[in-house]
Amino acid sequence: MAYPAACLFDLDGLLLDTEPLHARAWRDAARSFDTDLDPARLLALRGRRRLDCADQVLAWIRDAGHPCDGREALLAVRQPIAERLLAQAPAMAGAERLVRNCYGLGVPMALATSSSRAAVELKAAPHRWLELIATRVHGDDAELGAGKPAPDVFLIAAARLGVDAASCWAFEDSPAGAMAAAAAGCRVHVLLTEATQDAVFPVGSVMLESLEEVVL
Ligand SMILES: [Mg+2]
Repeated sequence: MAYPAACLFDLDGLLLDTEPLHARAWRDAARSFDTDLDPARLLALRGRRRLDCADQVLAWIRDAGHPCDGREALLAVRQPIAERLLAQAPAMAGAERLVRNCYGLGVPMALATSSSRAAVELKAAPHRWLELIATRVHGDDAELGAGKPAPDVFLIAAARLGVDAASCWAFEDSPAGAMAAAAAGCRVHVLLTEATQDAVFPVGSVMLESLEEVVL
């Protein structure tokens, strides 16, 4: 079997088990503005950049008729909750093995994440194996125009590795992220979780129940 030109990895909910923590931080923050975020809303936030999520949650708070001074006021509540939770995020099953496998086989890797550089540093600190992925595109990357579900993050990641995105495997867990990877032309691998069982993913995606299923 031919190896992919590169593997492009999402971080949150794919390599690290952060999505329940992100969801809890948004839910608790919205609740302090008397607004409830149900599972469908939490799913819609998944995979997107923090500021994009903040704008959406702010809209929901205001739609419900509750006052909120703005994005900064919301993030001032949300960020301390998130940082406390995310510093202890565990790895997803099979993530470390997959990354070490790619590294050992010489398959180039990049991180294609909506998370900011500072947020990645916080979450990755306990996981030294993530240092094997040296090429990274962050949500606050200077070159990045639109965040996921736009394809930019994957296109930039492939370009930095000097490969064609269409020859890459992308690994994603969120509908927004999988749409981004598909739009970039990657072969999309979707890690399904309980929260995304009923979500819609791009046609032709390889569906995984665990990263342990990936054969390289
Ligand atoms: Mg994700």
